[in-house]
Amino acid sequence: MGIGRLYTYTPLPHPTQPRDVEPSTSPAQEWQRYLDARQKVDDELAQLAKIDNSLVADIFRVHQEILHDRLLTDAVRAAIDRGISAATATQQASSDLVQMFQNLSDDYFASRAVDIRDVGQRLLAHLNGVSLARQLAALPPNTVLLAEDLTPFDATHLSSDSVAGIVLAGSAPTAHTAILARSLGIPLICGVGSAILHLPPGQLAIVDGLQGRLIVEPDEELLESYVQTRQRLLAFRITAESHSHEAATTLDGRRVLVHVNINSQEDMLQIASSGADGIGLLRTEYLFQERTTPPAVEEQIEAYRLISQQMPGEILTVRLLDIGGDKPVRYLPQMTESNPFLGVRGIRLLLQHPELLRDQLQALVSLSLESSFTGVVRILVPMVSKIVEVYRVLEVLDSIPGYREEHRREGRLQVGLMIEVPAAALLADRVAPLVDFFSIGTNDLAQYTLAADRVNSAVASLASPLDPSVLRLIAMTCQAGNVAEIPISICGEMAGDPSIFPLLFGLGVTEVSVVAPAVPLVKEAVRQTDGDAARRLAANALRTSRAQEVHRLLHPE
Ligand code: PEP
Ligand code: MG
Repeated sequence: MGIGRLYTYTPLPHPTQPRDVEPSTSPAQEWQRYLDARQKVDDELAQLAKIDNSLVADIFRVHQEILHDRLLTDAVRAAIDRGISAATATQQASSDLVQMFQNLSDDYFASRAVDIRDVGQRLLAHLNGVSLARQLAALPPNTVLLAEDLTPFDATHLSSDSVAGIVLAGSAPTAHTAILARSLGIPLICGVGSAILHLPPGQLAIVDGLQGRLIVEPDEELLESYVQTRQRLLAFRITAESHSHEAATTLDGRRVLVHVNINSQEDMLQIASSGADGIGLLRTEYLFQERTTPPAVEEQIEAYRLISQQMPGEILTVRLLDIGGDKPVRYLPQMTESNPFLGVRGIRLLLQHPELLRDQLQALVSLSLESSFTGVVRILVPMVSKIVEVYRVLEVLDSIPGYREEHRREGRLQVGLMIEVPAAALLADRVAPLVDFFSIGTNDLAQYTLAADRVNSAVASLASPLDPSVLRLIAMTCQAGNVAEIPISICGEMAGDPSIFPLLFGLGVTEVSVVAPAVPLVKEAVRQTDGDAARRLAANALRTSRAQEVHRLLHPE
């Protein structure tokens, strides 16, 4: 939550006609200018990649690769050799590449276009001697920055000392810029439309990142209430962090495991200090993407073993490969699907490529049997929509060398389902007796229940996981899980908001899995939750008709 004065950011336009080679400069000299600029950008990126945040550091490493990529370098060289200045050559080569990538049907490559534009922008800043950084670095304290969009390049020049909040007309919460803003601790709201760019600069504004609201010229009373809420949140964080390594138990004595979501080996660096009770969701896509062949069984065992050696607690929940939707891989050429989120994704894809399913199950069974592994491997099946998919996975598991039914009975290896398609929630009572746990993926459950694409900012506001339709499906899942006496976790983003925990607990959720920075906050929310009050809250929420009403129940003041 940030409070400050509005400032509209317009990136300095790239010179449309940068000077061409002056008679006194030769292609050799222009090439040298390009190499000098490239070196400076390389140094800049190397410095930025030292940041203590793996996700952010990866962005800059990718940018370094692009900087040295032959596609870019050769195109610049060829243009300079034709007698064009280094700046024009860079501008042309980078915009041609951006266009080429944008036109690719492969989502992964198309999304790289923004990174190429960013690298081009950095090079041009050096070649033209103008610095976008100057505009951003010179912002006065307590600025609320309004912009169409920001590139990661822009975002690296921001400082939380001057920027109180960012509001973007476009972009999405999972874009690189949002990741950077989060790592800087700057509240950001995105996808709000270009009307914000016409707001008069200098007005007082509140950026409410919790509710995704920009409030311009608040009255005294509202401003005061926001100042107080901000102080309360800060105090809450300080208390929470001082207890983060203690178990979280509700006021009525129920222990709630607060697990952590992990997306890569590097994420493990953050979790030791988070106080997480275990790993509630290891998204294994990182092991399979950005390579030309799938990892062999041995390589997978090694990767899971490494995670298990560094993890807190006993539980290692590994989700089977969830490829498809917005996460393609190169060596599995999916048909071009007009609705990839409704296509061959998750378990559907694994069942079409049984060798991938078998190898991953083999690796997980092997890890669970290693004498040095003393925890529990929970295998999580993504995108289940049919009961036969569960039967098929259990059949394949049965055929894995070394696997015996006792492993499941002894609790060393468990099999659970992602409940993220409404069909799975509606059939939860039928599938619960077949499995050992449920994990509710509310990111997808909200998308599929409300028919609102999770990566389309135009419908993002429709896909609230607090919508009573989604809550009813969560309640249904919990009821079935409770009857079968299996743990029911929530691993979607909503679980990371501590104010939502009492509602989830009241609905019957028994565990949660959240991003590392949210672990202390959610643990603290568990400690402040009373079971009876939570169940009353849940019953009231289930009687509402709109997400806004649920929101008001959670934030009554
Ligand atoms: C979810 O759908 O809520 C989930 C946790 O999985 P992912 O975000 O990886 O699809
Ligand atoms: Mg999902």
